[in-house]
Amino acid sequence: MKQKLLCSALAGASLLLSACGGSDGPSTSKNVLFFLGDGMGMTTMTAARIYSVGEDGELTMDQLPETAFIHTYSNDGQVTDSAPSMAAYMTGVKMNNEVISMSADTQAADAAGKPYYVKYDSTCPSDNGKPVPTLLEQMKAAGYSTGVVSTTRITHATPATTYSHVCHRDAENTIAAALVPGGAGYNASLGDGVDVVFGGGTSYFTPSTAGGRRNDGRDLVAELKKANYSFAANKSDFDKLPVDGKTKIVGLFSKEHMTYDLDRDPAKEPSLAEMTGKAIDALSARKKGFFLMVEGGRIDHALHATNARRALQDTVAFDNAIKAALDKMQSIDPGLKNTLIVVTADHDHTLQMNGYAARTGPTQPGKPGVLGLVNNYVDGKPSTDVDGNPYTVLGFGTGPNRKATRGPITAAELESPDYLQEAVVPTSSETHGGADVFLGATGLGAENFSGVLTNNEVFGLIKKSIGL
Ligand SMILES: [Zn+2]
Repeated sequence: MKQKLLCSALAGASLLLSACGGSDGPSTSKNVLFFLGDGMGMTTMTAARIYSVGEDGELTMDQLPETAFIHTYSNDGQVTDSAPSMAAYMTGVKMNNEVISMSADTQAADAAGKPYYVKYDSTCPSDNGKPVPTLLEQMKAAGYSTGVVSTTRITHATPATTYSHVCHRDAENTIAAALVPGGAGYNASLGDGVDVVFGGGTSYFTPSTAGGRRNDGRDLVAELKKANYSFAANKSDFDKLPVDGKTKIVGLFSKEHMTYDLDRDPAKEPSLAEMTGKAIDALSARKKGFFLMVEGGRIDHALHATNARRALQDTVAFDNAIKAALDKMQSIDPGLKNTLIVVTADHDHTLQMNGYAARTGPTQPGKPGVLGLVNNYVDGKPSTDVDGNPYTVLGFGTGPNRKATRGPITAAELESPDYLQEAVVPTSSETHGGADVFLGATGLGAENFSGVLTNNEVFGLIKKSIGL
């Protein structure tokens, strides 16, 4: 109270006011930036490093001073999907596959195995579990500003776990409504609303009569504007969004997921690094601490397609966002004395690296590098399978490209952005993998993150780091 009175007395002196931490926020500004590479297993990290900077280079992620291994299994699954793993990071609770930030007893399907969603607008039966508070909600309640950034639909599982509670991740219309202050289905635990929201997915904010997926006729973009959000639908709108320390901002840049970084038109869609930078500008201008979640969401999608080139490029785009955040936060908070940055993944994939290639260095036009064939380290010639056919460095355990008969692989195939690496087991879409994932941390309380952790333990360690 004392500080509040002093600060209001100083309100005319703008130079001094900045030391007051805003009118009603915490007196010390602390920041949490949580980066999640969706499906970014350690093989993907290694391959992205070689793709980008060669075997002996380092991604920004590689340079984080504190590291841990994370066990990602869910409440009911040996191999998790994004919903319960990200929700475990965000709530401290291990829940069932497909569930978004609900108690461990919440079922994603009824007794007959039918998922608890029929239309995108469906909500959970009232006797099916209960919401568990998320880190974003708890930090919002404690006076921090909040932001959510993803390259997927903003209603997709990972971002959804930060701001909504639903028994099945596919109820994306219900999830969208949770973001709109004052509207039916709004998540009141978000107070006056999430301050910064960037991603894709206008379909779930748009009525079906106007080409969207909403069956309730609501236009949530119009409702967000009415709730005093500044809205951006493309890169030029994005560049004009205010970072004035008070206006809430939302950017939805595509109907569904945003474009893979390899295909992105920079005049139409901002990069993940640009979205991260703008989010930090907007949140740090509030003179309070903040929570920001940033997801590299489409690494996972390219891996499901066994399209390694797009997966690696999206991993590099994610790493660039981490670099942008580190640089910006170091200038705002030198030494990161009040800023914790955590980088991790929600689960692995079945990507594998086959031996024994000679070092390739980074991928360049005409030089596929880690995306190419295994040219062995002894004589530089292609290694071959038992039938004498070459094979690529990268392959998958599951996936659509399972050849009945293997043959030569042309240079043109390896240069194509659409080349699908071969899989051991034929499936229509590649599956997640179950191996541990990486966690890296730097800044305030980063020393809390070491050894072997479960994903739900990370929640408590973040809170401990900032004294929440
Ligand atoms: Zn996935």
